[in-house]
Amino acid sequence: MTKKNIAAVDVSGKRVFVRVDFNVPIESGAITDDRRIRAALPTIKSITDRGGKAVLASHLGRPEGNGFEADFSLAPTAKRLGELLGKPVVFPSNDCIDAASDAAVAAMKNGDVLLLENVRFHKAEKKGDPAFAAKLAHGADVYCNDAFGTCHRPEASMVAVAKSLGTKPKVAGFLVEKEIKYLAGVLALPAKPFVVVLGGAKVSDKMACIDNLLPKADHILIGGAMAYTFIKALGKGVGSSRVESDRIADAKKTLELAAKLKCQLHLPVDHVCNTEFSEHGDIEVFEEIKDGYMGLDIGPKTQTNFALLIGKAKTVVWNGPMGVFEMSPFAVGTKSIARAMVDATKKGATTIVGGGDSAAAVEQMRLAEGFSHVSTGGGASLEMLEGKKFESVDVLDNA
Ligand code: AMP
Repeated sequence: MTKKNIAAVDVSGKRVFVRVDFNVPIESGAITDDRRIRAALPTIKSITDRGGKAVLASHLGRPEGNGFEADFSLAPTAKRLGELLGKPVVFPSNDCIDAASDAAVAAMKNGDVLLLENVRFHKAEKKGDPAFAAKLAHGADVYCNDAFGTCHRPEASMVAVAKSLGTKPKVAGFLVEKEIKYLAGVLALPAKPFVVVLGGAKVSDKMACIDNLLPKADHILIGGAMAYTFIKALGKGVGSSRVESDRIADAKKTLELAAKLKCQLHLPVDHVCNTEFSEHGDIEVFEEIKDGYMGLDIGPKTQTNFALLIGKAKTVVWNGPMGVFEMSPFAVGTKSIARAMVDATKKGATTIVGGGDSAAAVEQMRLAEGFSHVSTGGGASLEMLEGKKFESVDVLDNA
């Protein structure tokens, strides 16, 4: 189901409440990565260029919810947004629903941008409280959701604010529209062969995703620490690699189901190992991991196998690094997946990177431009791959 987007609404002279995701990393008051702010610019500009008033709301981090906390203030993001827009952004108060915020919203002129303070300074935000939402809406004429990273959380600013607008327009921003187009689109009708690449630390985080994708995918390639629970389930040696013992039975079931559904589940056939969780020590490549060693990256044969399968794919979705990519000797597998996907994009495949660590790795390698889509939401994109429905999206008007 496609949702109406912000361009479809006449915003001239209107107050548009835009839920953005400005949950950016801040160290000593300085923003270390402003991608999420930049990602919201097309929606904000579309509103202001057409004479609308953009009232922005976001959360930042995990404050207690008992009022203002300086460490979680959105003030640095207001400043950065002003720099990116080339015009001042009103940042009225340290409370998103107080009289000063109300007055500042009421005083906005067409084309103005205002950012409310962190909505999570109120416990009511996480509870999805309608009374809080009605105040937070500040008399909005239009609701716009452009916070993909938070779409899986039915918090007040994500759902109850939209509902508080009654029959007034409720639309998707351009970022949310793009994320849904790629992630939901690929699940609905993936061009075949459809290859899914999964990695990361915990198999328990990815089980629901595997179960949902097994009937749809032609190949699921598994790397990262999560591979070792599967390898153990096959009765093979994993040395001291990270294994989730309470998930071995589930892994066995998944392997059996994959065989039934004719989805090929590929595990690493070789591993870059070390005697300790460190980039120093005795790093060696094994096909069968020796006792005393732990697997920290997929080995060269696995890299070649995975790259060949990606090279034949028409659709590739990737979530989770292939190894401990934070340490350079174990980043090679993750890099090889990124490069294979960039090559596949050039050959016409649709390539999608789920958010989180794999998106960060791709950004670090400066390869993001080479993919069809790099998601801005780790948790949200994983939940979409699990097939979950988001109330925050359902509540928006259909196109
Ligand atoms: P996740 O958040 O589940 O996507 O996991 C990402 C984390 O998994 C990264 O910090 C990686 O260092 C870690 N990781 C990937 N492969 C391994 C491995 N073989 N052993 C331990 N940790 C790993």
